[in-house]
Amino acid sequence: MSFSEDKTRMTEYMKERPLDEWEDEAAVEEFFCFLDRLAEQAKEDSSYCAILSDAYLKAGDPLKAKEAFARGYNPKNKKDIKKLMSFDSWKANPVTRPSEKAGELPDFTYVSGKLLKNKFVRKKDGVCCICNKSRTAFYVGAAFTDTSEKINFLNTEDQFCADCIRNGAAAEKFKITFNDPYLQDITVVDDDKKDELLKKTPECSLAFDFDEDMWPCCCGDFCRYEEYDGTYEETFTFRCRHCGKETVWTKMT
Ligand SMILES: [Zn+2]
Ligand SMILES: [Zn+2]
Repeated sequence: MSFSEDKTRMTEYMKERPLDEWEDEAAVEEFFCFLDRLAEQAKEDSSYCAILSDAYLKAGDPLKAKEAFARGYNPKNKKDIKKLMSFDSWKANPVTRPSEKAGELPDFTYVSGKLLKNKFVRKKDGVCCICNKSRTAFYVGAAFTDTSEKINFLNTEDQFCADCIRNGAAAEKFKITFNDPYLQDITVVDDDKKDELLKKTPECSLAFDFDEDMWPCCCGDFCRYEEYDGTYEETFTFRCRHCGKETVWTKMT
């Protein structure tokens, strides 16, 4: 494949719908193989860096996109500088490569396992950095520091398992919370439950775009996040764990 063919192919990919909405897993895997090849080419030829950067954006990883772009950009070109700055405003929502997906997704009190498909990856012979047990699923979602800085575990060496999230060990070790919804006005839920949501539930920030978004509550407890549908508009379905009442949020895409 020549450079211009690769460039055209990437332009076509950029026009398609977000990668996490593709039904065809083989096509997603093919995209990642294409991304791998671009990464190899970019090592030898810096003109590939901009296409590689677009590929990382498509894969929901603005940090790597910025890194790639920074390797090939022209510091005298104002457009390039503007583009380099723009990566910081992209929201990281990494898509997991189908061949690396964790086989069985863990369930949590406040989020259903099936919504966590982009939050855990499979690693051969992987060992959790906290409990030191060999595991098959490792967390690659995000978390927040006590100053609300977002860390993405996709790009770190520290890999930990679902159990270490569930029992609070990961939150304790890294001094992080996985969720950061606006809770100030929520008085009906006790502190143990808040702890469970913030420190023992994987990040669900896709549902919470705005600071004023509050996690839905019912019967003195947080509702469980159970369904996501991004087909036409984004809908997020939460269900009360006690009375079964459904809360549905809709966002236009
Ligand atoms: Zn562990
Ligand atoms: Zn209820």
